[in-house]
Amino acid sequence: MGERYEMLLVRYGEIGLKGQNRHYFEAALVRNIKRTLKPLGRCRVERSHGRIFVHLPEGVRAADGARLLGRVFGVVSVSPVLRVPLELEAVKEAGLELLREAARGGAVTFKVSARRSNKSFPLTSMELNRELGAHILRKVQGLSVDVHEPEVELTVEVRSDYVYLSAAAFPGPGGLPVGTSGKGLLLLSGGIDSPVAGWMTMKRGVDVAAIHFDSYPLTSERARQKVVDLARVLAGYRGGVYPLFISYFTSIQKALQRSCPEELRITLMRRMMFRIAEGLAERRGALVLVTGESVGQVASQTLESIRVINEVVNLPVLRPLAGMDKEEITRKAQEIGTYDISIRPYEDCCTLFVPRRPATRPHRDKVLAAEAELPIEELVEEALEKTELMIVRAEI
Ligand code: ATP
Ligand code: MG
Repeated sequence: MGERYEMLLVRYGEIGLKGQNRHYFEAALVRNIKRTLKPLGRCRVERSHGRIFVHLPEGVRAADGARLLGRVFGVVSVSPVLRVPLELEAVKEAGLELLREAARGGAVTFKVSARRSNKSFPLTSMELNRELGAHILRKVQGLSVDVHEPEVELTVEVRSDYVYLSAAAFPGPGGLPVGTSGKGLLLLSGGIDSPVAGWMTMKRGVDVAAIHFDSYPLTSERARQKVVDLARVLAGYRGGVYPLFISYFTSIQKALQRSCPEELRITLMRRMMFRIAEGLAERRGALVLVTGESVGQVASQTLESIRVINEVVNLPVLRPLAGMDKEEITRKAQEIGTYDISIRPYEDCCTLFVPRRPATRPHRDKVLAAEAELPIEELVEEALEKTELMIVRAEI
């Protein structure tokens, strides 16, 4: 006791509204926070009055912890916090240190917002605001007070045990803790869309693993590496670890090429992907499939196509990008960190096998006739047998 001490304050929003389930959601959030911070060493995480406090190991910078927690779904914001004893001198010193740092970062205006839940502390909130503000103005050159739109708000909370001060809040992604909504399986290509679709589904609390259909050596090794790198980014939003299933698709690809009318190739290919994905989802206890389809974006994404492709599976298929246009999706991809990987130029199976004139309204009878030539169930079984699990780790 008594020492000045640095830690993180995590604020969360939506999960607090879940009534009966609140405890369940909070426990999941704490678990995900611990998993995410594991690479920094052993952290102690405690819940208190609708907030979460993280005690970092010796020598770890609060900013590094805050950066990692900025990717945990359920987190609304994270602040590095100084905890000091219930003594005015200690509070003044800590406040000064935080504002000095902010001033070095270019801040010019500030205000102090004190809150006193511990009424035995000798100064009221108003007195603290004045006392601290004046102290900082005296000691730091170039700062002025702006109570309406300050660049830095120094919050000071006087609680029963300690005083907590913080001068910065980093936004988190919001949403629900991953795992609280069950499991899903994402069909992950190397494109821009599907990683975003996976991210959006994870944001709603779904624990999303991915399956990628790999057509090596028809496609290059670098095309596969792209997908692994995308999974690495997604891992950052899933506690640092991401399960990526690689399904070897080359023989199916070749079989389709041999025996199917060219304009139906994409439709047939997608139907095979959906069947295999559903088989894997069922083995893993996933309740939904997820794709990056967006209505009308390309030939295989007309409603007619979506319907003919969708009808081979029973599981619901989430398409979180259905209503977004490419620009919005691109912006999201940039924001979450997948865009630069997605635009690497290596072809995936789809760009390679796109027919010159794909059917925009694939006719179900023709699709069924083409599939009648193929040992569908055998192909699906064989693909599932050969599917491999890769555990992809986030960069820290
Ligand atoms: P993306 O940018 O996600 O590749 P796209 O606009 O290129 O999307 P399509 O190529 O038509 O769209 O693919 C539609 C969806 O099918 C993808 O979003 C993805 O969910 C799935 N998909 C396509 N190719 C593959 C693959 N090789 N492995 C796994 N899923 C795939
Ligand atoms: Mg694609």
